[in-house]
Amino acid sequence: MKLLLSFCSLLLSLTLPAQAAVMLIYHHVASDTPRVSSVSADELRGHLQYFKDNNFQVIGLDLLIKQLREGTPVADNAVVITFDDSYENNFTTAHPILQQFGYPYTIFISPGSIDKGDGPLLNWQQVKQMSDDGVLIANHAMWHEHMAKPAAGETEQQWLARMQQSISAAEDKIEQVTGQRHQWLAYPYGEYSAPLEQLVSELGFIGIGQHSGAVGNNSALTRLPRFPAAGRYADLTDLAQKLRTLAFNITDYHSVDPLVNGVNPPQLTLSLQITDFNRTQLQCFAGAEVLKPEWLNDNTFTVTASKSLATGRSRYNCTAPSQSKKGYFYWYSQPWLNQP
Ligand SMILES: [Zn+2]
Repeated sequence: MKLLLSFCSLLLSLTLPAQAAVMLIYHHVASDTPRVSSVSADELRGHLQYFKDNNFQVIGLDLLIKQLREGTPVADNAVVITFDDSYENNFTTAHPILQQFGYPYTIFISPGSIDKGDGPLLNWQQVKQMSDDGVLIANHAMWHEHMAKPAAGETEQQWLARMQQSISAAEDKIEQVTGQRHQWLAYPYGEYSAPLEQLVSELGFIGIGQHSGAVGNNSALTRLPRFPAAGRYADLTDLAQKLRTLAFNITDYHSVDPLVNGVNPPQLTLSLQITDFNRTQLQCFAGAEVLKPEWLNDNTFTVTASKSLATGRSRYNCTAPSQSKKGYFYWYSQPWLNQP
């Protein structure tokens, strides 16, 4: 059955024009919060009006994930709106604007932080109100903790048990307040690692990151990408290009772990179907550095930065222009976390 499904989705991906959804990530909707994680109310309104005027379909994350799980083609030109961290301005400012447009959206919350009243966050009454209004409420770990690796002095087993506890406790609390239980985890800070993905998959969860890229039928369900839409990314010309991105049909991620373990700079190797772009037009970047893809065979390439990655989070991005959809680019981002 599984084989038949994957055969069908392979046929679909070969026969249909390129389709993809783009997930956007917002935090604050305010003018007096840190610019890097904020859009103003006017900017949010401008984004939503742009989706409307340019025939983007704003769909709920529940529909996108259903399509991904079932292997049915993802809605074309789809946009999924998400907010992380449950700031109070999401209720006071963003929610009425999104309701005016009638657009579905998702908020990823950390229940422990809400319990503690950690900053200008939503309270549970507001979460319940939004849920009753149809907002999808999902998991951002119990305490918004760094999840990708063991804490100092912790064994791998202790760390994974602690992560499982955090994920389950958050999901239970969300269900208790809202009745919703989606089992979608947005990794705090977008930080994940191969063992964490394994855990997320075993728990039956979907894992969602903060690296950029479009979502397509071959996207890995433990690391769905999202484009940032706030701060310097809020500008409509920039956002317009992100909305016109497509997902490479990746057939093998070659077990690339975002955690940089000893080998720095790390090597990214991907195998993909080349159906709608010219492989000579594939370009990869590490920051401002252009990386030359080395092709190992017809469908597999590898890239490595020339210099060691700095401590913290960084990315390799790879893009190629679509041949069938004018103005659209295939886009893949590989996040790295270097914490020696
Ligand atoms: Zn967060």
